[in-house]
Amino acid sequence: MGLSAFTQPGRFYRGNLHTHSNLSDGCLEPAEVCRRYKAEGYDFLALTDHFIGMYGYPLADTKPFRDESFTTLLGAELHSGPTQNGELWHILAVGLPEDFSPPDAPGFLPVEGQESGPELARRAVEAGAFVAVAHPQWSGLTLEDARSIDVAHAVETYNHGCAMGCDRPDGFHTLDLLLSEGRRLTCIATDDAHFTEPDHFGGWVMVKAEENTPEALLSALKAGHFYSSQGPEIRAITVDREAVTVECSAAATVIVQGHGQAAAATHGESMTTARVPMNRFYNTDWLRVTVMDRAGKRAWSNPIWLD
Ligand SMILES: [Zn+2]
Ligand SMILES: [Zn+2]
Repeated sequence: MGLSAFTQPGRFYRGNLHTHSNLSDGCLEPAEVCRRYKAEGYDFLALTDHFIGMYGYPLADTKPFRDESFTTLLGAELHSGPTQNGELWHILAVGLPEDFSPPDAPGFLPVEGQESGPELARRAVEAGAFVAVAHPQWSGLTLEDARSIDVAHAVETYNHGCAMGCDRPDGFHTLDLLLSEGRRLTCIATDDAHFTEPDHFGGWVMVKAEENTPEALLSALKAGHFYSSQGPEIRAITVDREAVTVECSAAATVIVQGHGQAAAATHGESMTTARVPMNRFYNTDWLRVTVMDRAGKRAWSNPIWLD
């Protein structure tokens, strides 16, 4: 699954899967959010406003902002039910139908009797969405919380808004533990932009598809045909018994991670090919790759299964 981005036909399309507008607590109109992402060189955007009652359960209609070089996926950030710390679930759903039924979620606090997060996530997947566990570190999720979203396609492993606003961007700890339980999840970098602080154009996905249409992008996301980035490009990854070989834009460091303590790095000058030896990876059935440039910007592969 993690290598399919590099073996599938098509080309890469750059998109942000987590964004807010003034339909919820973002500060720009949907049209201006779409204009800015297109102007910054993005191929697609999912506007994912907070799907709660205080905003009238917005499911932004971004279809008018599509053109021949830019498209949109319909989606929302879903909320219902408490996590173990008593706060409200945040679940990212991209590819929702426009008539998706709201939960009973009046505001940003959980209320008695409302649908649970796992139930709401299941409904979103049944309705056709790509679903990700949003910002695990920001939410203070436990492993048990994250595990309970049993239909999730992905974990949001880098959230740029959470990086800039509270230095809690991470989802890789949660992802890695779930991978080691055998969960075949992918990972996404997103902005979670509200345009209320420098929370935009910092993390995105590169999706391999044959055309830049919502249908092709959504099925590629569900199939894992993508990688994530803050800047660097990953062009190819091959795995053999001795090494993981990565072709990429000029990198200072390429790291391979696996179960538990398994990790190895190759450092170099302006590397466009890096070989990371596999001798520390005797006890893992999954790997993933991080490419880091001289400025510390990263790109991340999806998990690669060794069976
Ligand atoms: Zn959120
Ligand atoms: Zn958000």
